Amino acid sequence: MKVILNPSSLQEIYFQEKRFFIKRDDLLHKDFSGNKARKLFYFLEQDLPNIKEVISYGGAQSNMMASVSSLAKLKGWKFTYYTKTLPSYLKENLSANLEYALLNGMKLIEIPHESWQVSIDALQSSEEVLLLKQGGAQKEAEFGLAQLAQELIEDAKTKALHNPKVFVAAGTGATALYLQKHLPFEVITTPCVGNEAYLREQFLALEKDECLHPRIVNTEKKYTFAKPNPALLTIWQQLMHETGIEFDLIYDPKAWLALLENYESIKVDIIYLHCGGILGNRSQLKRYER
Ligand SMILES: *Cc1c(COP(=O)(O)O)cnc(C)c1O
Repeated sequence: MKVILNPSSLQEIYFQEKRFFIKRDDLLHKDFSGNKARKLFYFLEQDLPNIKEVISYGGAQSNMMASVSSLAKLKGWKFTYYTKTLPSYLKENLSANLEYALLNGMKLIEIPHESWQVSIDALQSSEEVLLLKQGGAQKEAEFGLAQLAQELIEDAKTKALHNPKVFVAAGTGATALYLQKHLPFEVITTPCVGNEAYLREQFLALEKDECLHPRIVNTEKKYTFAKPNPALLTIWQQLMHETGIEFDLIYDPKAWLALLENYESIKVDIIYLHCGGILGNRSQLKRYER
């Protein structure tokens, strides 16, 4: 089955009396959306007739896992996913990304904490098995992100944007980095997973030339990745209330705080890339409740 990804829309919104353009990659395709879909697009497009199975590993509620499960289903591949032994509340209340991926036929293998690294290091690709790294920072990600860059160039032309800039949250930083490589305008990002030094290392692993790296901005306060925090929930709710758009609860709140805190040094016209991930919100909202 051939899946076509039509360009996602660019939506004009106002938030805190400032104008932004949102690239709605969350609405890319009903079974395959967000930046993980862009990063996996190469594997969707290629024939790869020998591949029978895809294996990957990481967190039990990862957005990548959900997208790989869609990819595997669309391609008719088996999908095996390794994660650390699940806490019992997760196993008893399957939800969000984990539930979605299991419904797509994913086989989940739990690995005890102590033997995690050894087990992951032993995973291998072969002629029939495709191994995808955690977070999807593999070089094949460039293919789909280059296509996204082309869409953004078209969008900027169509909307006659003045000095456009792209703002996107960073995990591995691969999305920001590859976009910058293929865009004639500036890409700005903020680290949501580690600190700035970690993000610079990630950039360097993918691209030696620092002139091609995106600009990094920070929030004044530090936030721990995926840890519930009232300030993050508040801005997420404000975004929903003022724009009607549901953003992701893990990356986007920190990214919006960084964007607003650094607004004067960025200014118009800002394109914010919505990277999807809202399927995972249900499990994160449960953590906020607890
Ligand atoms: C994965 C993800 C990111 C970070 O993407 P990287 O390419 O790893 O930097 C940002 N936002 C959302 C919603 C994601 O799922």
